[in-house]
Amino acid sequence: MEQTNNKPDIRQVPEAELLKFLNEYGEKPFRLKQLRPWLWKHFINTFDEIKNMPSGLLNALTSTYLLTFFESVRTLEDMDGTEKTAFRLAGDTVVEGVLIPAADRLTACLSTQAGCPVGCAFCATGKMGFKRNLTASEMYAQFVSLNRRAVQKWGRGLTNIVLMGMGEPLLNYEQVVRFITMINTSDGHSFSARRITLSTVGIPQYIKRLADDSLKVNLAVSLHAPTNEKRNALVPLNKTYPIEMLIEALMYYYKKTKQTITFEYVLLRGINDGRTDAVQLAALCRQFPSKVNIIEFNSFEGVAYQKPEAVMTGNFCRILKEQGVNCTLRQSKGSTINAACGQLSHIVNISY
Ligand code: SF4
Repeated sequence: MEQTNNKPDIRQVPEAELLKFLNEYGEKPFRLKQLRPWLWKHFINTFDEIKNMPSGLLNALTSTYLLTFFESVRTLEDMDGTEKTAFRLAGDTVVEGVLIPAADRLTACLSTQAGCPVGCAFCATGKMGFKRNLTASEMYAQFVSLNRRAVQKWGRGLTNIVLMGMGEPLLNYEQVVRFITMINTSDGHSFSARRITLSTVGIPQYIKRLADDSLKVNLAVSLHAPTNEKRNALVPLNKTYPIEMLIEALMYYYKKTKQTITFEYVLLRGINDGRTDAVQLAALCRQFPSKVNIIEFNSFEGVAYQKPEAVMTGNFCRILKEQGVNCTLRQSKGSTINAACGQLSHIVNISY
């Protein structure tokens, strides 16, 4: 069955419309219940792979709707096993997803936007500007593609998802929540929210909404500096939502969800890696149960920041621990293929 891309993506079509479509083809509403797992669970590429529906209905679905899935444009592999895959979206936009293997887990790092409007100073994605939001279906298609690759290469499926690729997830709130909700349900993959981490620079109103929506995903906040003066220079959105507003929203999130908050902190030599920075960071961390992931800066062309000497990094972590902060130095994965934190950007890394 032929599929063209000028049809609506079926995963994005409201259920009321799908019911109307089924009714027009003389089908009962129970077909919608049958359809959902085929769209969000069974990894199909074409409608004719659906097993429990009549061929006439499958033909009608094929001629009316698009079933989004991705062929990768290109995959690069790091020596540590990390793979970065570029996916071409409708409109000829390219986004990247990363498959990160570890002894006890296989993690997919997914993009939620093509480019990013936030423009953090140390981030390759921020340098490429903003193209558009991804749909929930496009996030799911990345998940499917990376899961297939995980099974092919490692003999098992994905265990964890981090929404930490291109984009600021909370600026695409509706679609991100829909993606999480669908893979979390039994019609999807029953993928536990506890194994999903949403990484954000921190947009207070959406952090509160996330708490109210009870999604129970892990929240990782890209803090990167303990004072407004320093953070304004690294994360421009801090000028709109200063640290005090962010902390107040995180307290709200903790009170509602009782979940430990993770702070992500990229160490930059001479910028945010001093003793005073560590002490100030510890003071922020003590306001609710939290932990800190220290991330080594992964350099890329056109950026002057450098990662600190190992001894400085060690000292920073030691001071945090002395201050009672749960701190982990995150092993950088995929840095030789520009797949590590802050490095995803097809204009910087790969020409397709
Ligand atoms: S760090 Fe995240 S929020 Fe900041 S520019 Fe990069 S992708 Fe956007």
